[in-house]
Amino acid sequence: MKHTKSFIPLVAGSWFAMAGTALAAPVEEAELILSRGEIRVPGGWAQALAVRRGVIVAVGEEAAVAAYRGAGTRVIDLAGATVIPGLHDMHIHPTGAGEWQNRCMFPQGSSAKVVQDTVKACVARKGKGAWITGGSWDTASFGKTPPHRQLLDRVAPDNPVILNDISGHSSLANSRALELAGITRDTPDPAGGIIERDASGEATGVLRESAGFAVGRHVPPATPEETLAALKWSLEQMLSFGITAFTDAGTNMAINRAYATLADRGELKQRVRGCTMWAPARLGAEGASLPDPTLTLNQYARGRFKPDCIKLVLDGVPTSGHTAAMVEPYEEALNDKDDVRARGLLMIPAALLNRTVVELDRRGWTVKFHAAGDAAVRAGIDAIEAARKANGYTGLHHNVGHNSFIQPSDLDRAAALGVTFEMSPYIWFHNPIIPDIAKAIGPKRMEHWTPIKGAVDSRALVVPGSDWPVVPSLNPWVAIETAVTRKAPGGVGEELGGAEKVSLEEIYEVFTTNGAEAMDSRHLTGSIETGLLADVLVLDRNIFKIPVTDIHRTRVLTTIIHGEIVYQAQ
Ligand SMILES: [Zn+2]
Repeated sequence: MKHTKSFIPLVAGSWFAMAGTALAAPVEEAELILSRGEIRVPGGWAQALAVRRGVIVAVGEEAAVAAYRGAGTRVIDLAGATVIPGLHDMHIHPTGAGEWQNRCMFPQGSSAKVVQDTVKACVARKGKGAWITGGSWDTASFGKTPPHRQLLDRVAPDNPVILNDISGHSSLANSRALELAGITRDTPDPAGGIIERDASGEATGVLRESAGFAVGRHVPPATPEETLAALKWSLEQMLSFGITAFTDAGTNMAINRAYATLADRGELKQRVRGCTMWAPARLGAEGASLPDPTLTLNQYARGRFKPDCIKLVLDGVPTSGHTAAMVEPYEEALNDKDDVRARGLLMIPAALLNRTVVELDRRGWTVKFHAAGDAAVRAGIDAIEAARKANGYTGLHHNVGHNSFIQPSDLDRAAALGVTFEMSPYIWFHNPIIPDIAKAIGPKRMEHWTPIKGAVDSRALVVPGSDWPVVPSLNPWVAIETAVTRKAPGGVGEELGGAEKVSLEEIYEVFTTNGAEAMDSRHLTGSIETGLLADVLVLDRNIFKIPVTDIHRTRVLTTIIHGEIVYQAQ
């Protein structure tokens, strides 16, 4: 930063030289200057930056940036505060998070008794006959009484009840809900789903994966106003945590419409990619042609909302339900007589999946896979490989999401195939979902649980995805700290998968430049440099200069997107 004229674009500089003038280009005044801070720039730190038309026009030493100050410039004195680029979250369900605010919720890790008491209170509040939906339970916390509809029947005999588990891939319904869905002891398991049954052959009320749809169909959908309000609430939450760009990992037409509406009103501040859910059944039978997403999705496209992504669910979760697809069998055997779930469930047959992804890639759609087990991750990479072979490298950032387990041979081939790994921060340290998974998978494979270090070292693109509200928080500062420590926030307790720790520099890149690249906007965002958009955060501490175990306490003071202040802490 020694060259005082380093902010003049090279081309303009040479033009002036040719014109024979010794004067610097006239400086147009900035709209906004951030002054006297610690500003993270590639390779070091700057003190000030200037913004015009949403673009960073200067960043460097105080005196150099001051040249952009004019009568109309708003100057924010940072008084030593830290500025970094806005953060990315590549797997989030904002509408769901907003809607969950009004549901029957109990804390993760709740006992059967707490679940019953909560449902009882919700029934009293909502009245007889009303639907009760909520969560999130887990089998391990139920202790000796496994999840069963009778637990709910006792407190809600006349209300249909359906409660998600903490993975969001299983639900527990009561008898009234099963009755409305027409699920009896004779109902066969649907494709891609399991109706759990007890020793007498009766449905227990636990519904895995697609089996939950039969009940879910009867739950009254949110009204358009409710969807808008839910989305808006979550967008504000994200701004307060410094998320300036994100991928919605499961939209539908109602959600796409909500984004478009907020964008039209100027209320959508973040840069958003929407991944529309495609249930395997909707892909059609073998040989059927693929419905063209272009026919419906582009009507919702806006400047800050790109509904250009398709979400395909390849498996479930590696919990006691054994729905994640694993290369090696689960450690703990289920008392399944036919052992269908020894290696979990792959939701889409390989030939159909590959053909689908080849076709989506050819038409320019980015694909996001849900893949928790290593066999599902492999299926996703195989499908990307099929697309690359058929279409060449289209530049689309197809991404494999979650990656709870990845086989080493798949890490080896991922970078060459242009695979993006989206890793889930909220499960890479101990929390209530982990004991259930560790029991199902066994200790050996847990050593490389959520292998972010392996993914980073593979040189494939790695991005973060919180999966909020399936996890209780979207706080990226917790994610950044715990990627380095693999311990609970504050460095508490035991390490989880300690072999997969990354450095602070590595996880910082994952949340900034990598996120921008995966969003196809690295030419716009991801770092603080002259010419990029002013999507920046003012923080209450410098995460690079404090003990790593304090990073989770970081608070965002100001969030700026495209030069506009979109959030300010009280
Ligand atoms: Zn998700």
